[in-house]
Amino acid sequence: MKTKEVCSHCGHEFPRTELTEFDGEFLCPACLETETSVCEDCGRRIWNDNNEGSGDLILCGSCYERNYVHCSRCGRLLHENNAFYFGDDDEPYCESCHDMLDSRIIHEYSYRPAPNFYGNGPRFFGVELEIDEGGEYESKAKKLLNVANRDTENIYIKHDGSLDEGLELVTHPMSLEYQLTKMPWVEVMAEAVRQGYRSHQANTCGLHVHVSREAFGAFAVEQDSAIARVLFFVERHWNELLKFSRRTQRQLERWAARYGYKDHPTEMMEHVKKGRCNRYTCVNLTNEDTIEFRIFRGTLKYNTLIATLQMVNRICDVAICMSDDELRAMSWSEFVSGVTEPELIQYLKERRLYLNEPVAVSEEV
Ligand SMILES: [Zn+2]
Ligand SMILES: [Zn+2]
Ligand SMILES: [Zn+2]
Ligand SMILES: [Zn+2]
Repeated sequence: MKTKEVCSHCGHEFPRTELTEFDGEFLCPACLETETSVCEDCGRRIWNDNNEGSGDLILCGSCYERNYVHCSRCGRLLHENNAFYFGDDDEPYCESCHDMLDSRIIHEYSYRPAPNFYGNGPRFFGVELEIDEGGEYESKAKKLLNVANRDTENIYIKHDGSLDEGLELVTHPMSLEYQLTKMPWVEVMAEAVRQGYRSHQANTCGLHVHVSREAFGAFAVEQDSAIARVLFFVERHWNELLKFSRRTQRQLERWAARYGYKDHPTEMMEHVKKGRCNRYTCVNLTNEDTIEFRIFRGTLKYNTLIATLQMVNRICDVAICMSDDELRAMSWSEFVSGVTEPELIQYLKERRLYLNEPVAVSEEV
C-alpha cells in the first residue's frame, strides 16, 4: 500500500498522514499554512485568494457579505455595526470619514443628511436654491450657513456641477408657515447678494421645490391620483407656468422637460409612468419621499421665492381638493382668482399672470 502522497500544491511527497485534504486537494503543512487561512468569523478554511476581509481580519465571502462593508471613502474594512451612513443613503463610511464629510462646509452633490422636519406636516417643502458667480468657497459658504442656521440647522450647502462658480443651498423639509416665518430667507438672500452671488441673473440657476408625497394622502393610491392632478395642472397651464417660472424654453428643455399634455389626469399619469423616468422633468417623480417641482428659475429676490412656494402650495391644494373633472374645467383666471397671498398676487401681477392692472416691478437678482 502506498504510504506517501504528493502535495497537490508544491508537488513534493509526504507521508499520507501529514497531508490535509482541503477543497478537493491534498496539501502539505507548509502549503496549507501559506495558501489557506481560517475565517475568523465562522472558522471555515478558505484559500487566501478568497479572503474578502483584510490582512488583519480573514473573512470568507459569506461572512463578509453578512456582516461587513468597506468604507466608501478610505476603503477600510468595517463591521456593519461600526459603519456610519448619511440619512437613508446606503454608502457606508468609517467613523472618521463620516465625521470628516459631515463637518465639511460644502458637501458633495450626493450628500443627503437625515432630514430634520420643521413645522407641522404632512405638507413639507424642501427648497434647493442654486446661486452662482460668487465662487465655490468654503469661507463664503460658512458665512451663509451662519446666517441661515443661527437658530437651528435649517439648511446645508452642496457642490453643484451645473454651476460655474456657485453653491446649492438646500433646506431641510419645512412647513410653508416655517419657510415664511422662521427660515431667515431675507437675511440669507441679502448675505448671498452681498457676497457677489446671483441666481436669476446668473442664467445657470434653478429653484427646485420638493413636496412630501405624504402631503397628497396617507396611501400610495391616493397620493398617485392627487399627483396625477398636479402633473395635469402643470401641463394644462404650461404657458402660464412657463411665464411664472422665468425660465427660457431652452433651460426648461434641458433641466425640467415637459411630459406632454394628455386630456385627463389619469391618462396623464399613465403617460408619465410609461415614459422616461429621469429627474430632469418639470415635476420629478423619481424620489421615494417627495415630488420635486423643477420648473422655476433661481432667484435671490425674497418676494419671488415666497410667491413660488405659495404657488406650489396652491397647486397642491387644487390637486388634493378637486376632482379630475373639476380641475379640467378650471381656467387659469379661475385659479388665480382664488389666490389670497399678497406675495403671490404681487408676483402674478409682475409676470402679467393676474389681471391687467399696471404694477411697479423691482428688478430680479
Ligand atoms: Zn506542499
Ligand atoms: Zn466565515
Ligand atoms: Zn473611511
Ligand atoms: Zn433638485
